[in-house]
Amino acid sequence: MLAFFRSLANAFELGTCWSCGCASVTATALCSYCDEALPRWYPRCCQHLSDIEPHLTDDQKRCRYWYGALRWEPQVQQLMTLFKFRNKAELAPLLATQLAAHLRLCYQGQPMPDCIVAVPMTQHAWRQRGFHQTALLARYLSAVLQVPYIAGGLRKIRSVPMQHMASQSARWENSKRSQLALHDFSGSTVAVVDDVLSTGATMMAAADALYKKGAAAVDAWAVVYNQHD
Ligand SMILES: [Zn+2]
Repeated sequence: MLAFFRSLANAFELGTCWSCGCASVTATALCSYCDEALPRWYPRCCQHLSDIEPHLTDDQKRCRYWYGALRWEPQVQQLMTLFKFRNKAELAPLLATQLAAHLRLCYQGQPMPDCIVAVPMTQHAWRQRGFHQTALLARYLSAVLQVPYIAGGLRKIRSVPMQHMASQSARWENSKRSQLALHDFSGSTVAVVDDVLSTGATMMAAADALYKKGAAAVDAWAVVYNQHD
């Protein structure tokens, strides 16, 4: 009987590991083996600014910290593909939990930012996907970390061509002035949530918009940091 319910649950992808499909999952929605095997970054600010520096103008303010929880390796690529391109919004808690655990270690002894915003997407992309993946992550992080989430804090004002098709300098050029902050962030430290961080161009466009609306500091948070994109 138990086997019947398990196979039924498997058929509907309920209670099964998101990575390997086995039926014994932990609270993280992965089996204990896949949870342990997740490729994680050490909890420290990513050494990302070395790539970013050449693209910044002299007056452009940097993000204060860059944090990414997972490495862009096959197991993580599989999870992100399910989440972003197969519309598995149910993966948001799993991914946000990984990032929250990472952030708790990163901010040890330091206050968390005052609020969280999500990297925005265009209305067109939102309609196509059916859900706003970074907003979903930001909402879970807000609940877990007890940091207020500012819904719609950033807006995409210009669509940016598919980033993985472009060269690094083209990505920077494409992303410039593509976002607008719709809230007064005067004096606040703001965390921006993205799913995958690679060149940092999208994140810097968000930071730029937030600094223009008075943010005192902007921290970059991503579930995945893809260092060698
Ligand atoms: Zn598994």
